[in-house]
Amino acid sequence: MKLFDWLRRPPPPPEILLPQWQAVLDLPLFAGLNRDDAWRLCVLGERFLSRKQWVGTEGLLVTDAMRRLLALTASLPILNLNEDSFDDWRGVILYPAPFVVRDARPEMLSVTQWGGVGVVHEEDQIQLGQARGDGPILLSWPDAERASQQLDGFNVILHEIAHKLDMLNGVADGFPPLHRGMQRLRWTEVWQANYRLMRWQARMGQLPHWLDAYACSSPAECFAVLSETFFELPFAVATDYPALYQQLVLFYRQDPRARLMGPHRAESTA
Ligand SMILES: [Zn+2]
Repeated sequence: MKLFDWLRRPPPPPEILLPQWQAVLDLPLFAGLNRDDAWRLCVLGERFLSRKQWVGTEGLLVTDAMRRLLALTASLPILNLNEDSFDDWRGVILYPAPFVVRDARPEMLSVTQWGGVGVVHEEDQIQLGQARGDGPILLSWPDAERASQQLDGFNVILHEIAHKLDMLNGVADGFPPLHRGMQRLRWTEVWQANYRLMRWQARMGQLPHWLDAYACSSPAECFAVLSETFFELPFAVATDYPALYQQLVLFYRQDPRARLMGPHRAESTA
């Protein structure tokens, strides 16, 4: 154990900590958490609050309530993962509206005996959020706040956090670092099969109504979009893509569907 850990103060007990976070815990995303899980989530939230640099752009004032909402939502996916999962980046940059980012998109024109010849297109894109490989996450605050008010499968905070977890072993590619006991081959098979299925469903106009077609744009977006819906609409994901839901349960080490059913109903349907 590092000296810093020895010196770290123990977290406040539940009776102190939970009331401080109650306004956020009351949101539907956190329904079904037992007292111990809620307390552990708040401990992670405190850690996120204190270790991140919070920046409001274009005059946006970042309040304590905003920080708490973002910190607790961002911490939900790592409730049963390493608490230091986000320690490799620091910035949370908030915008007062959807924002424009300039992306460089390389295009290969031809391949010669000396190598490839290509150009780089620069495009302006309007985005609600972005997880940057070189550091911070960027969020449109109104869209982040709206995402937290309802369980509709759209949650830009969870989406960008999923990208950050995906980036723990390099670029976001839909293949995050798996845990001991998880099978790389099984992960690949399940995601490839479901990604192909979703793209076919999109072409045929048969994509489930709850699923954002953006999931079909790349394996990285498929993982991020399905992570959003895993937490917001677990019954829908488990019903329409059961093998994929199971892989997400193994990856996040939690089962939002069982949580929402409650212990008694979960037992009766086991
Ligand atoms: Zn994305």
